[in-house]
Amino acid sequence: MKKNTQLIHAGRSRQWTGSAVNPPLVRASTIVFDTMQELREATKQRGNRVPYYGRRGTQTHFAFQEAMCELEGGVGCALYPCGAAAVSGALLAFLKQGDHLLMVDSVYEPTRALCDKLLAGLGIETTYYDPLIGAGIAALIKPNTRMIFLESPGSLTLEVQDIPAICAVARARQIITVLDNTWASPILCQPFELGVDISIQAATKYIIGHSDVMLGTATATEQYWPQLREHSYLMGYCASADDVYAASRGLRTLGVRLKQHEQNALQVAHWLAQRPEVETVRHPAFADHPGHQQFKRDFSGSNGLFSFVLKQGSQQQVAAFIEGMQHFKMGFSWGGYESLITATFNVQALRRASHWPYSGPLIRLHIGLEDPEDLVADLAAAFTRFHAAG
Ligand SMILES: *Cc1c(COP(=O)(O)O)cnc(C)c1O
Repeated sequence: MKKNTQLIHAGRSRQWTGSAVNPPLVRASTIVFDTMQELREATKQRGNRVPYYGRRGTQTHFAFQEAMCELEGGVGCALYPCGAAAVSGALLAFLKQGDHLLMVDSVYEPTRALCDKLLAGLGIETTYYDPLIGAGIAALIKPNTRMIFLESPGSLTLEVQDIPAICAVARARQIITVLDNTWASPILCQPFELGVDISIQAATKYIIGHSDVMLGTATATEQYWPQLREHSYLMGYCASADDVYAASRGLRTLGVRLKQHEQNALQVAHWLAQRPEVETVRHPAFADHPGHQQFKRDFSGSNGLFSFVLKQGSQQQVAAFIEGMQHFKMGFSWGGYESLITATFNVQALRRASHWPYSGPLIRLHIGLEDPEDLVADLAAAFTRFHAAG
Protein backbone atom coordinates (compact mmCIF):
# COMPACT_ATOMS: atom_id res chain seq x y z
CA MET A 1 0.00 0.00 0.00
CA LYS A 2 1.25 3.49 -0.75
CA LYS A 3 1.25 6.28 1.82
CA ASN A 4 -2.01 8.08 0.97
CA THR A 5 -3.92 4.81 0.91
CA GLN A 6 -2.33 3.85 4.21
CA LEU A 7 -3.41 7.16 5.77
CA ILE A 8 -7.02 6.42 4.86
CA HIS A 9 -7.02 2.89 6.26
CA ALA A 10 -4.68 3.10 9.26
CA GLY A 11 -6.42 2.21 12.53
CA ARG A 12 -9.79 1.76 10.85
CA SER A 13 -10.20 -1.97 11.16
CA ARG A 14 -13.79 -3.15 11.83
CA GLN A 15 -12.73 -4.01 15.38
CA TRP A 16 -12.49 -0.29 16.16
CA THR A 17 -14.98 1.35 13.83
CA GLY A 18 -17.93 -1.03 14.09
CA SER A 19 -20.35 0.11 11.41
CA ALA A 20 -19.19 3.75 11.41
CA VAL A 21 -16.54 5.18 9.10
CA ASN A 22 -14.50 6.61 11.97
CA PRO A 23 -13.33 4.93 15.18
CA PRO A 24 -15.87 6.29 17.71
CA LEU A 25 -15.05 8.74 20.49
CA VAL A 26 -15.14 6.74 23.74
CA ARG A 27 -14.56 8.78 26.90
CA ALA A 28 -13.99 6.84 30.09
CA SER A 29 -12.37 6.69 33.48
CA THR A 30 -14.15 3.60 34.80
CA ILE A 31 -14.60 0.58 32.57
CA VAL A 32 -17.28 -1.82 33.84
CA PHE A 33 -17.29 -5.62 33.60
CA ASP A 34 -20.13 -8.16 33.84
CA THR A 35 -18.21 -11.13 35.16
CA MET A 36 -15.18 -11.81 37.35
CA GLN A 37 -13.73 -13.78 34.46
CA GLU A 38 -13.99 -10.78 32.11
CA LEU A 39 -12.27 -8.52 34.63
CA ARG A 40 -9.52 -11.10 35.19
CA GLU A 41 -8.89 -11.29 31.44
CA ALA A 42 -8.78 -7.51 31.06
CA THR A 43 -6.42 -7.27 34.03
CA LYS A 44 -4.06 -9.73 32.38
CA GLN A 45 -4.04 -7.63 29.19
CA ARG A 46 -3.49 -4.41 31.17
CA GLY A 47 -5.12 -2.23 28.58
CA ASN A 48 -3.34 -3.84 25.66
CA ARG A 49 -6.11 -3.27 23.10
CA VAL A 50 -8.70 -4.26 25.72
CA PRO A 51 -10.35 -1.52 27.80
CA TYR A 52 -9.34 -1.92 31.45
CA TYR A 53 -9.18 1.51 33.03
CA GLY A 54 -9.47 4.93 31.35
CA ARG A 55 -5.84 5.86 31.93
CA ARG A 56 -4.83 2.82 29.84
CA GLY A 57 -6.99 4.00 26.96
CA THR A 58 -10.27 3.23 25.24
CA GLN A 59 -11.10 2.08 21.69
CA THR A 60 -10.41 5.66 20.54
CA HIS A 61 -6.84 5.45 21.80
CA PHE A 62 -6.24 1.89 20.59
CA ALA A 63 -7.32 2.78 17.05
CA PHE A 64 -4.95 5.76 16.89
CA GLN A 65 -2.05 3.82 18.45
CA GLU A 66 -2.54 1.09 15.87
CA ALA A 67 -2.65 3.70 13.10
CA MET A 68 0.65 5.22 14.24
CA CYS A 69 2.36 1.82 14.22
CA GLU A 70 1.00 1.09 10.76
CA LEU A 71 2.29 4.43 9.47
CA GLU A 72 5.63 4.81 11.25
CA GLY A 73 6.49 1.18 11.97
CA GLY A 74 7.27 -0.09 15.45
CA VAL A 75 5.14 -2.45 17.51
CA GLY A 76 3.64 -0.12 20.11
CA CYS A 77 2.81 3.55 20.53
CA ALA A 78 2.64 5.43 23.85
CA LEU A 79 0.49 8.56 24.05
CA TYR A 80 1.45 11.71 25.95
CA PRO A 81 -0.33 14.97 26.73
CA CYS A 82 2.01 16.86 24.32
CA GLY A 83 5.18 16.44 22.27
CA ALA A 84 7.44 17.72 25.05
CA ALA A 85 6.06 15.00 27.37
CA ALA A 86 6.78 12.37 24.69
CA VAL A 87 10.40 13.58 24.55
CA SER A 88 10.89 13.50 28.34
CA GLY A 89 8.91 10.24 28.59
CA ALA A 90 11.07 8.45 26.01
CA LEU A 91 14.31 9.67 27.60
CA LEU A 92 13.35 8.99 31.22
CA ALA A 93 12.05 5.51 30.38
CA PHE A 94 15.65 4.40 29.80
CA LEU A 95 18.08 6.86 31.42
CA LYS A 96 19.19 6.58 35.02
CA GLN A 97 21.71 8.30 37.25
CA GLY A 98 25.25 7.97 35.88
CA ASP A 99 24.15 7.49 32.27
CA HIS A 100 25.43 9.54 29.36
CA LEU A 101 23.24 10.95 26.58
CA LEU A 102 24.35 12.20 23.15
CA MET A 103 22.06 15.02 22.01
CA VAL A 104 21.97 16.70 18.60
CA ASP A 105 23.00 20.37 18.80
CA SER A 106 20.18 21.58 16.51
CA VAL A 107 17.51 20.11 18.79
CA TYR A 108 14.18 21.76 19.65
CA GLU A 109 15.01 24.27 22.38
CA PRO A 110 12.75 22.83 25.14
CA THR A 111 14.46 19.43 24.67
CA ARG A 112 17.82 21.12 25.26
CA ALA A 113 16.40 22.78 28.40
CA LEU A 114 15.20 19.37 29.63
CA CYS A 115 18.76 18.00 29.36
CA ASP A 116 20.45 21.03 30.92
CA LYS A 117 17.97 21.56 33.75
CA LEU A 118 16.16 18.33 34.61
CA LEU A 119 18.42 15.49 33.39
CA ALA A 120 21.58 17.18 34.71
CA GLY A 121 19.94 17.40 38.15
CA LEU A 122 19.25 13.66 38.06
CA GLY A 123 22.92 12.89 37.40
CA ILE A 124 22.48 12.21 33.69
CA GLU A 125 25.19 13.81 31.59
CA THR A 126 24.49 15.25 28.12
CA THR A 127 27.05 15.82 25.37
CA TYR A 128 25.84 17.81 22.34
CA TYR A 129 27.03 16.74 18.91
CA ASP A 130 27.19 18.41 15.51
CA PRO A 131 24.06 17.53 13.49
CA LEU A 132 26.29 16.70 10.48
CA ILE A 133 28.55 14.32 12.45
CA GLY A 134 27.28 11.10 10.82
CA ALA A 135 29.31 7.99 11.65
CA GLY A 136 31.82 10.28 13.39
CA ILE A 137 29.53 10.02 16.42
CA ALA A 138 31.50 6.88 17.35
CA ALA A 139 34.28 9.11 18.72
CA LEU A 140 31.88 10.66 21.29
CA ILE A 141 30.63 7.40 22.74
CA LYS A 142 31.65 6.63 26.32
CA PRO A 143 31.30 3.38 28.29
CA ASN A 144 28.17 4.82 29.98
CA THR A 145 26.50 6.19 26.81
CA ARG A 146 22.97 4.83 26.95
CA MET A 147 21.06 6.84 24.35
CA ILE A 148 21.55 8.94 21.23
CA PHE A 149 18.87 11.52 20.45
CA LEU A 150 18.33 12.74 16.89
CA GLU A 151 16.07 15.37 15.39
CA SER A 152 16.14 15.70 11.63
CA PRO A 153 15.80 18.22 10.11
CA GLY A 154 16.83 20.23 13.18
CA SER A 155 14.63 22.92 14.72
CA LEU A 156 15.12 26.48 13.31
CA THR A 157 18.18 25.67 11.16
CA LEU A 158 16.99 22.40 9.57
CA GLU A 159 20.28 20.47 9.17
CA VAL A 160 19.50 16.95 7.93
CA GLN A 161 21.27 14.20 9.85
CA ASP A 162 22.71 10.93 8.52
CA ILE A 163 20.20 8.85 10.48
CA PRO A 164 21.24 5.37 9.22
CA ALA A 165 24.96 6.03 9.87
CA ILE A 166 24.31 7.16 13.45
CA CYS A 167 21.89 4.31 14.13
CA ALA A 168 24.35 1.71 12.81
CA VAL A 169 27.03 2.97 15.21
CA ALA A 170 24.51 2.90 18.08
CA ARG A 171 23.10 -0.52 17.32
CA ALA A 172 26.53 -2.18 17.22
CA ARG A 173 27.00 -0.95 20.81
CA GLN A 174 23.48 -1.60 22.19
CA ILE A 175 22.86 2.15 22.50
CA ILE A 176 19.22 3.22 22.12
CA THR A 177 18.42 5.75 19.38
CA VAL A 178 15.48 8.16 19.66
CA LEU A 179 14.42 10.34 16.73
CA ASP A 180 12.17 13.36 17.09
CA ASN A 181 10.39 12.79 13.77
CA THR A 182 7.92 15.67 14.07
CA TRP A 183 9.09 17.58 10.96
CA ALA A 184 8.46 14.56 8.73
CA SER A 185 5.13 13.69 10.38
CA PRO A 186 4.45 9.94 10.07
CA ILE A 187 4.77 10.02 6.28
CA LEU A 188 7.86 11.82 4.94
CA CYS A 189 10.42 9.60 6.69
CA GLN A 190 10.29 5.96 7.83
CA PRO A 191 12.42 5.97 10.98
CA PHE A 192 12.38 2.25 11.76
CA GLU A 193 13.61 1.39 8.27
CA LEU A 194 16.57 3.71 8.94
CA GLY A 195 17.46 1.85 12.16
CA VAL A 196 15.81 4.08 14.79
CA ASP A 197 14.58 2.39 18.01
CA ILE A 198 12.03 4.98 19.18
CA SER A 199 10.26 7.63 17.07
CA ILE A 200 8.60 10.68 18.57
CA GLN A 201 5.87 12.86 17.11
CA ALA A 202 4.53 16.13 18.42
CA ALA A 203 1.09 15.24 17.01
CA THR A 204 0.25 18.83 17.97
CA LYS A 205 1.80 19.82 14.64
CA TYR A 206 0.80 18.25 11.31
CA ILE A 207 -1.16 15.24 12.59
CA ILE A 208 -3.67 17.49 14.35
CA GLY A 209 -3.14 20.13 11.68
CA HIS A 210 -5.55 22.77 13.00
CA SER A 211 -3.62 24.43 15.88
CA ASP A 212 -6.22 23.43 18.44
CA VAL A 213 -4.96 20.29 20.27
CA MET A 214 -1.75 19.22 22.04
CA LEU A 215 -0.68 15.57 21.84
CA GLY A 216 2.54 13.52 21.72
CA THR A 217 3.42 9.99 20.64
CA ALA A 218 6.42 7.69 21.05
CA THR A 219 6.50 4.55 18.91
CA ALA A 220 9.02 1.80 19.66
CA THR A 221 10.52 -1.43 18.35
CA GLU A 222 9.69 -4.80 19.90
CA GLN A 223 12.89 -4.62 21.96
CA TYR A 224 12.09 -1.32 23.67
CA TRP A 225 8.30 -1.16 23.63
CA PRO A 226 7.70 -3.07 26.92
CA GLN A 227 9.92 -0.73 28.96
CA LEU A 228 8.58 2.41 27.28
CA ARG A 229 5.01 1.30 27.92
CA GLU A 230 5.69 0.37 31.54
CA HIS A 231 7.37 3.72 32.21
CA SER A 232 4.51 5.62 30.61
CA TYR A 233 2.07 3.71 32.84
CA LEU A 234 4.10 4.29 36.02
CA MET A 235 4.34 8.01 35.28
CA GLY A 236 0.58 8.17 34.74
CA TYR A 237 0.81 9.67 31.26
CA CYS A 238 -2.47 9.76 29.42
CA ALA A 239 -4.25 11.72 26.71
CA SER A 240 -7.90 12.68 26.46
CA ALA A 241 -10.11 10.67 24.10
CA ASP A 242 -11.30 13.90 22.47
CA ASP A 243 -7.74 14.93 21.61
CA VAL A 244 -6.89 11.47 20.30
CA TYR A 245 -10.05 11.48 18.20
CA ALA A 246 -8.90 14.74 16.59
CA ALA A 247 -5.53 13.14 15.85
CA SER A 248 -7.14 10.11 14.20
CA ARG A 249 -9.23 12.42 12.07
CA GLY A 250 -6.22 14.55 11.20
CA LEU A 251 -4.45 11.54 9.68
CA ARG A 252 -7.03 11.21 6.91
CA THR A 253 -6.14 14.54 5.29
CA LEU A 254 -2.46 14.62 6.26
CA GLY A 255 -1.28 13.53 2.81
CA VAL A 256 -3.07 16.24 0.82
CA ARG A 257 -2.37 18.92 3.42
CA LEU A 258 1.35 18.17 3.42
CA LYS A 259 1.54 18.15 -0.36
CA GLN A 260 -0.01 21.63 -0.49
CA HIS A 261 2.19 22.91 2.38
CA GLU A 262 5.22 21.58 0.47
CA GLN A 263 4.26 23.18 -2.83
CA ASN A 264 3.39 26.54 -1.24
CA ALA A 265 6.56 26.58 0.86
CA LEU A 266 8.80 25.81 -2.13
CA GLN A 267 7.23 28.65 -4.08
CA VAL A 268 7.82 31.13 -1.24
CA ALA A 269 11.32 29.76 -0.52
CA HIS A 270 12.42 30.17 -4.17
CA TRP A 271 11.08 33.71 -4.19
CA LEU A 272 12.98 34.53 -0.98
CA ALA A 273 16.20 33.07 -2.40
CA GLN A 274 16.12 35.77 -5.13
CA ARG A 275 15.81 38.66 -2.68
CA PRO A 276 18.93 40.81 -2.26
CA GLU A 277 18.32 41.10 1.53
CA VAL A 278 18.51 37.32 2.02
CA GLU A 279 21.83 35.70 2.90
CA THR A 280 20.56 32.13 2.64
CA VAL A 281 17.36 30.09 2.65
CA ARG A 282 17.41 27.06 4.96
CA HIS A 283 15.26 24.50 3.19
CA PRO A 284 16.20 20.78 3.05
CA ALA A 285 15.07 20.49 -0.59
CA PHE A 286 17.61 23.14 -1.70
CA ALA A 287 20.71 21.57 -3.29
CA ASP A 288 23.16 23.56 -1.13
CA HIS A 289 21.39 22.77 2.16
CA PRO A 290 23.46 20.98 4.84
CA GLY A 291 22.49 17.32 4.61
CA HIS A 292 20.62 17.67 1.29
CA GLN A 293 22.01 14.33 0.05
CA GLN A 294 20.65 12.58 3.15
CA PHE A 295 17.36 14.40 2.67
CA LYS A 296 17.05 13.09 -0.89
CA ARG A 297 17.95 9.58 0.25
CA ASP A 298 15.79 9.30 3.41
CA PHE A 299 12.78 11.61 2.93
CA SER A 300 9.96 11.44 0.41
CA GLY A 301 9.27 15.19 0.45
CA SER A 302 9.21 18.40 2.46
CA ASN A 303 6.57 20.41 4.32
CA GLY A 304 5.67 24.04 5.12
CA LEU A 305 8.44 24.76 7.64
CA PHE A 306 11.73 26.43 6.72
CA SER A 307 13.73 29.50 7.60
CA PHE A 308 15.90 32.15 5.99
CA VAL A 309 18.74 34.35 7.20
CA LEU A 310 18.92 38.08 6.48
CA LYS A 311 22.30 39.61 5.54
CA GLN A 312 21.74 42.13 8.32
CA GLY A 313 18.85 43.73 10.18
CA SER A 314 18.29 45.58 13.46
CA GLN A 315 15.66 44.60 16.05
CA GLN A 316 13.67 47.60 14.84
CA GLN A 317 13.81 46.55 11.19
CA VAL A 318 12.82 42.98 11.97
CA ALA A 319 9.94 44.25 14.13
CA ALA A 320 8.77 46.41 11.19
CA PHE A 321 9.02 43.35 8.94
CA ILE A 322 6.99 41.05 11.20
CA GLU A 323 4.48 43.31 12.93
CA GLY A 324 2.84 44.63 9.78
CA MET A 325 2.13 41.19 8.30
CA GLN A 326 -1.34 40.60 6.96
CA HIS A 327 -1.35 36.81 6.56
CA PHE A 328 1.60 35.59 8.64
CA LYS A 329 0.81 35.57 12.37
CA MET A 330 3.60 35.76 14.92
CA GLY A 331 3.63 32.75 17.23
CA PHE A 332 5.15 29.41 18.12
CA SER A 333 4.24 25.91 17.07
CA TRP A 334 3.42 25.12 13.42
CA GLY A 335 1.71 22.42 11.38
CA GLY A 336 -1.72 24.06 11.30
CA TYR A 337 -3.41 25.38 8.16
CA GLU A 338 -2.18 28.93 8.78
CA SER A 339 1.07 30.75 8.08
CA LEU A 340 3.33 31.74 10.99
CA ILE A 341 6.49 33.79 11.46
CA THR A 342 9.09 34.14 14.24
CA ALA A 343 12.56 35.70 14.45
CA THR A 344 15.73 34.56 16.23
CA PHE A 345 18.62 36.99 16.59
CA ASN A 346 21.36 34.86 18.11
CA VAL A 347 21.39 31.30 16.78
CA GLN A 348 24.94 30.69 18.04
CA ALA A 349 23.74 31.20 21.64
CA LEU A 350 21.64 28.03 21.19
CA ARG A 351 24.65 26.00 20.02
CA ARG A 352 27.42 24.26 21.89
CA ALA A 353 28.92 21.74 19.48
CA SER A 354 28.56 23.43 16.12
CA HIS A 355 29.37 26.75 14.52
CA TRP A 356 26.59 28.90 13.06
CA PRO A 357 28.23 30.80 10.19
CA TYR A 358 25.75 33.70 9.87
CA SER A 359 25.44 36.91 11.87
CA GLY A 360 22.13 38.28 10.53
CA PRO A 361 18.75 37.50 12.06
CA LEU A 362 17.03 34.21 11.23
CA ILE A 363 13.36 34.25 10.30
CA ARG A 364 11.40 31.04 10.55
CA LEU A 365 8.28 30.61 8.47
CA HIS A 366 5.52 28.08 8.53
CA ILE A 367 3.80 28.27 5.17
CA GLY A 368 0.11 27.51 5.47
CA LEU A 369 -2.59 26.62 2.98
CA GLU A 370 -3.29 30.16 1.75
CA ASP A 371 -2.59 30.97 -1.91
CA PRO A 372 1.19 31.37 -2.07
CA GLU A 373 0.90 34.51 -4.25
CA ASP A 374 -0.76 36.29 -1.30
CA LEU A 375 2.03 35.14 1.02
CA VAL A 376 4.70 36.40 -1.38
CA ALA A 377 2.93 39.77 -1.61
CA ASP A 378 2.82 39.91 2.21
CA LEU A 379 6.58 39.27 2.36
CA ALA A 380 7.33 41.79 -0.39
CA ALA A 381 5.49 44.48 1.61
CA ALA A 382 7.44 43.37 4.71
CA PHE A 383 10.76 44.05 2.93
CA THR A 384 9.53 47.55 2.05
CA ARG A 385 8.76 48.21 5.75
CA PHE A 386 12.14 46.67 6.67
CA HIS A 387 14.00 49.21 4.51
CA ALA A 388 11.86 52.13 5.68
CA ALA A 389 12.80 51.27 9.30
CA GLY A 390 16.54 51.11 8.47
C1 LIG B 1 6.61 21.37 18.86
C2 LIG B 1 7.68 20.37 18.97
C3 LIG B 1 7.79 19.57 20.11
C4 LIG B 1 6.91 19.72 21.31
O1 LIG B 1 5.58 19.46 21.05
P1 LIG B 1 4.44 20.09 21.99
O2 LIG B 1 3.24 19.31 21.61
O3 LIG B 1 4.37 21.55 21.65
O4 LIG B 1 4.86 19.86 23.41
C5 LIG B 1 8.79 18.63 20.14
N1 LIG B 1 9.67 18.50 19.11
C6 LIG B 1 9.59 19.26 18.01
C7 LIG B 1 10.56 19.05 16.91
C8 LIG B 1 8.60 20.23 17.91
O5 LIG B 1 8.56 21.00 16.82
